[in-house]
Amino acid sequence: LKLGERGAIFRFIQDEHVIVVAPSKRFYLGAVAAFPLSHVNERIRRVIQVTLPIGIATGVVLAAAVLYLVQHQRSLPTVIKAGLRRNEFFLVYQPIVELDSGRWIGAEALLRWNRGGDMITPDQFIPAAEDAGLIQHLTERVVEIAAQDAEGLFCRFPDFYISINLASSDLEDQKTLILLDRLTEATSAKKGNLIVEATERGLADPEKAGPIIRQLRKNGFAIAIDDFGTGFSSLSSLEALELDYLKIDKSFIDTLGRNAVTSSVIPHIIVMANALNIEMIAEGVESEVQADILRKSGVQFAQGWLFGRPMSIHDIIASLEP
Ligand code: C2E
Ligand code: CA
Ligand code: CA
Repeated sequence: LKLGERGAIFRFIQDEHVIVVAPSKRFYLGAVAAFPLSHVNERIRRVIQVTLPIGIATGVVLAAAVLYLVQHQRSLPTVIKAGLRRNEFFLVYQPIVELDSGRWIGAEALLRWNRGGDMITPDQFIPAAEDAGLIQHLTERVVEIAAQDAEGLFCRFPDFYISINLASSDLEDQKTLILLDRLTEATSAKKGNLIVEATERGLADPEKAGPIIRQLRKNGFAIAIDDFGTGFSSLSSLEALELDYLKIDKSFIDTLGRNAVTSSVIPHIIVMANALNIEMIAEGVESEVQADILRKSGVQFAQGWLFGRPMSIHDIIASLEP
């Protein structure tokens, strides 16, 4: 047996044995150990017996987890399309009241998605639908549902109106005109029975939205500018578009009645609306104090939890009946 370098351990297999030689660093001495190869093989077999099932189980669990994630993280647009196919969308209606009389004069249609029992609000899916170019499909569905819900409504309540929310892209699409004409027809709506709500952002480019808005007005729709005060519409564009209603955004209403100062913006909005001859609807009114301030300031209409939460069309009709 030829020893290697001093101090360097080495091992080799001979005669069915594993042999390890550990020479001393300082002396010509060394330790030798030998054990049967069958012993080593037996150890390896036992380790495999224990680790293999664990490995397989871990692999299966990981694969299942990946599959679960893929299924449950299908992109939102894909899930929206599936929701449309499965008729999971419906409308609720929130009353709009005349502040002086407390009378319900109309209702805003708000989209809801019942996804297997989970109620999903539009803030969670409208932006994604807009980004994915799916909003036209949702608007189409809104119009379909509203047409069913409001069938016969205006014959019974000729002064009542339903307002529909449109997305920015709807205002640039000629198809919207055809779609909304179908709604007029299906509900036998007269002038003033149907309102279209477009956000200030949607109207930001009057060159694009202007032609559709003007045509909608010709077709008997009243136009409301939604979330007013949160965008940057210029006075000239507001005047050019000839709007009917201005909805004061909830963020400004929230500042009303909070102990100290009242909103510094609302008085300006009111002066402007009066100058342009546009009626106002205050959004998100939750307290008597707010309603009182608005009424005294000359705001004509309001909407908010104080008067009614969004509800089914049946509840709206039941409340309108004498
Ligand atoms: P919006 O048009 O400003 O609608 C008013 C929102 O304020 C509604 O939320 C309504 O439930 C809520 N609201 C009303 N009164 C009160 C109140 O007193 N307090 C509070 N905290 N909230 C109040 P919702 O239904 O979740 O809708 C959110 C937004 O989603 C809407 O804002 C609108 O921009 C959009 N949206 C809803 N339905 C449609 C639709 O059919 N089409 C499109 N394109 N957008 C829609
Ligand atoms: Ca609205
Ligand atoms: Ca609004």
